Amino acid sequence: MTAPLIDPFARAITYLRVSVTDRCDFRCVYCMTEHMQFLPKAELLTLEELDRLCSAFVGLGVEKLRITGGEPLVRRGIMTFFRAMSRHLVTGDLKELTLTTNGSQLAKYATELADCGVKRVNVSVDTLDAAKFARITRWGRLPQVLDGIAAAKAAGLKVKINAVALKGVNEDELFTLVEWCAAGGHDLTFIEVMPMGDMEGEDRLDQYWPLSDLQAQLTTRYTLTDLPDRTGGPARYLRLAETGQRVGLITPLTHNFCESCNRVRLTCTGELYMCLGQEDMADLRAPLRASPDDAALRAAIRNAIAHKPKGHDFDYSRQTVAGQMTRHMSHTGG
Ligand code: SAM
Ligand code: SF4
Repeated sequence: MTAPLIDPFARAITYLRVSVTDRCDFRCVYCMTEHMQFLPKAELLTLEELDRLCSAFVGLGVEKLRITGGEPLVRRGIMTFFRAMSRHLVTGDLKELTLTTNGSQLAKYATELADCGVKRVNVSVDTLDAAKFARITRWGRLPQVLDGIAAAKAAGLKVKINAVALKGVNEDELFTLVEWCAAGGHDLTFIEVMPMGDMEGEDRLDQYWPLSDLQAQLTTRYTLTDLPDRTGGPARYLRLAETGQRVGLITPLTHNFCESCNRVRLTCTGELYMCLGQEDMADLRAPLRASPDDAALRAAIRNAIAHKPKGHDFDYSRQTVAGQMTRHMSHTGG
C-alpha cells in the first residue's frame, strides 16, 4: 500500500481541486477580462490524461475531488470524465466527487451528474437581480442559472451557493441572498474578492468588501453563532438562529487558515499548485507524458507535496495588494 501524501508541515493532502478547462461561457468582471486569451487547445490535458492524473492522486490517498475551471461543464466530453471518476466512488477510494459551476449548463447535465455519484454542487450566484447579474458576468443570464439550480435540486443534488462579496455591487442584497438561500434550503458562502489575474481597468481594491463588515451587517438582523466546522480550507461558518442556515465566510486575505490546509490544485495544463496564493508549482504533464507507467508521475506528485509552502502572502492591509497573483482563478481553479 502506498503511503499517504503528507507535506512538510504534517498536513495530509486529501483534497484535489482540478481545473478541467480555462474556458468559460461567462466573463465575470473579477475573474476575466472580456477579451480573455485562452490557452491553445493543444496545451490542455486530454480527458484521458486528466483521468490518469486524478486516479494517481486517488491512489495516493486523495479522497475528495472538486472539478472546477473555467467553467467545467463547457469542456467537451466532460461527462465522460465524471463517469470515469465515478469508478473511484464505487471502490470507496474516493469519498466525494463534486464540482463548482456557474450553473449555466446544469439544466442539461444535472441528472447525469447525479447518476455519476455527485451529491452536491457549488453554484456561483452573486446577485438575484437579472440586470446586475448580466453586468457582473457580462455574458451570463440569471434565468438560465436559476433553471440549472432547479434542475440540480430535482435531480437530488444538494446545491450550495457561492457569492463573491463586492463592495457597492451586491452589498444591498445581503439579506435578499440570505433569505433566498434559506427558503431554497441552500447553504451560502460568501467569498472575499481576491487579487487574481491582471485586470485591465479593474481594481480589486475598489471591489473589496471585507467579510468582517458583511458579518457586522448580518448581526443587525440575525443572531450569529460561530460553528466549529472546518473543512481544511479558507471557509469558517456561522449559524443564523432565525433561519437555521449555515453561512460560510471565505476570507483568504484576512484570516490565516493555512495550518489546516489539506488541498492542492491542478490546472488544466497539468501544473500542480501547492498553494492558491503562491507561485510555486510543479509540472506534472511532463512526467505524465514521458511514460505510460505512473511511477514517475507518482514520484513527481510526492516531490511537489514535499515543497508545499506553509502559507500565502495576500495582504490588503496596507491598501496595496501584496502577494498579488498574476494568474487567473480560471486557470488555477477557484
Ligand atoms: N466557473 C465556475 C464558477 O464560477 O463557479 C467555477 C470556476 S470559478 C473560478 C470558482 C469560484 O471562484 C467562483 O465562485 C467565482 O466566483 C470565484 N472567483 C473568481 N474570481 C475570483 C476573485 N478574483 N476573487 C474571489 N473569488 C473569485
Ligand atoms: Fe467563468 Fe466562473 Fe470565472 Fe465567472 S468566475 S468568468 S463563471 S470561471
